[in-house]
Amino acid sequence: MAKLPEGAGRHITQCSVCQHAEEDEIERLWRAGRSSRSLGETYGLHKTAVANHAKYLALERSLDDILLAVIERALLPSITKRRRQLTPTRR
Ligand SMILES: [Zn+2]
Repeated sequence: MAKLPEGAGRHITQCSVCQHAEEDEIERLWRAGRSSRSLGETYGLHKTAVANHAKYLALERSLDDILLAVIERALLPSITKRRRQLTPTRR
């Protein structure tokens, strides 16, 4: 875990993202380039809460995570299709 800024305890207790069960995934997706608004809609959070969380914890967009997300989005349909072709149908 990254070094927390001063007053982190107050943030953590009041922040809906910090309290969210999917906090790690929300942070991963934020680093991968998802907008605060999009994450808010997906996880039932206010976009300002997501933006404040990212700002407060000084999260940074990660080029590795962004590229991985682009590759996943590009390849996932073909991987899913190929898996269906390889999986025998159950009868
Ligand atoms: Zn937070």
